Amino acid sequence: MCSDVRVRFAPSPTGYLHIGGARTAIYNWLFARHTGGKFILRIEDTDRNRFVPDALQDIMASLRWLGIDWDEGPEAGGDYGSYFQSERLELYQKYAEELIREGKAYRCYCTSERLEQLRKEQEAAKGWVGYDRHCLNLTEQELQAGKESGVKSVIRFKIPRENRTVFRDLIRGELGFENSTLDDFVLLKSDGFPTYHLANVIDDHFMKISHVMRGDEWIPSTPRHVLLYQAFGWELPQYAHLPIFLAPGGGKLSKRHGATSVREYREKGYLPGALFNFLLLLGWNPGDDRELFTLQAAAEEFSMERINASPVALSFEKLDWFNGLYIRSLGPEELAGYCLPYLQQAGLLVDPCPEERFRYLVQVMPLVRERLKSIPEIVNLADFFFLEEIPAPQKALLIPKKMDLNQSLQALEGSVDVLRAVSSEFKETDLEEALRSLAAKLGLQDGQVFMPLRVAISGRTATPGIFETLHALGKERVLRRIQNAVEVLRQ
Ligand code: GLU
Repeated sequence: MCSDVRVRFAPSPTGYLHIGGARTAIYNWLFARHTGGKFILRIEDTDRNRFVPDALQDIMASLRWLGIDWDEGPEAGGDYGSYFQSERLELYQKYAEELIREGKAYRCYCTSERLEQLRKEQEAAKGWVGYDRHCLNLTEQELQAGKESGVKSVIRFKIPRENRTVFRDLIRGELGFENSTLDDFVLLKSDGFPTYHLANVIDDHFMKISHVMRGDEWIPSTPRHVLLYQAFGWELPQYAHLPIFLAPGGGKLSKRHGATSVREYREKGYLPGALFNFLLLLGWNPGDDRELFTLQAAAEEFSMERINASPVALSFEKLDWFNGLYIRSLGPEELAGYCLPYLQQAGLLVDPCPEERFRYLVQVMPLVRERLKSIPEIVNLADFFFLEEIPAPQKALLIPKKMDLNQSLQALEGSVDVLRAVSSEFKETDLEEALRSLAAKLGLQDGQVFMPLRVAISGRTATPGIFETLHALGKERVLRRIQNAVEVLRQ
């Protein structure tokens, strides 16, 4: 399938990829994949003051981690590059000059002090705030004087104040703005760099962008962009502004509500599929109650009609729920791959991990998978599998409710005897038989044998199934741990 759809994700490298940005990227990518169009990554790096050196690497790594690839852009190339705005300065300068020649823009020599003073006065007068067109009609001599004054000029767009600007948004319908509310914004800054507005419009035009899908915080900028398209005589792209994210329960989302960058979620051990799915449903729905989508399935289903305009409140419980679901869908090998770095960090496995230890990790995975809500939990849930010795369990834990010291001792000492007799393979069926008959012989319920045993071998009251756990630990470690527990009880 081939189509004229060309969409872009145009982040500014001013920080790590925000989850809102990631959602924008995902929707653009899905739309491109759905329509057989192209998805372009463009780096809007014209604000030198806010530039963060490792942001670009983070953005690309985070997109790739989520499964988002780009057809054109950094490291992908393409016919419409450069895909870095900082490498396209001449183009912006040329078109800004063209607007001057056509009387649609003008050079402004106002100093920052003057502009500051103006703003103060306007704010004090509680009226319209914006540039007062002081430099709109400079004569040749005044322009020359400006040039010689040493003050660096900017180029401002001349807003046709009398009109109203209307555009259609695919999600919100028609949106209209009075031009009189807009001021003559800067197109080209004094350092020769374009502002966001100019570069964004020129690039969308020359990169043949068909649909501009972005966060709705950009709606106020859109009339400026529409006016620029009109000034250049270029065809408008279609606009679709995505609903804003709210904090859980409503209100503005900020750092204090939790992680805001993709990287943080990744570091917290969330799986890419879970974060993808979570973000997918923040603003889009499939029209029924299905919630679980692979990237491919989402691409097949995706349509702009199903994006809603109203703000979406984040629910981190939902993300955890997705994450649990994705963890349980992983095979042991894959899950082991995700868990490994956390176990290494905790010192439970060495780095690099020898093959035979990794196999052991894979063997443990099916035992813990059901109880794992997030990957880092593996450390607390499964540390006793990787430790040679565990700290001596507390006496109180070794004597479960409704049991006494003597019964616990009987259960554990009896276990040592019967387990010693089980062959060293420690097959689960053999273990089960041995322990159940021990319980019967002692006149205890099965659980009354299993519970002290569980605490003895793991140090905790909740573990995966007792026979699988015993099997995974192996005969030697099990006998040693039970004997240690017996000593605790005898103290
Ligand atoms: N550079 C803008 C940003 O950082 C792009 C906005 C747009 O998509 O037009 O989000």
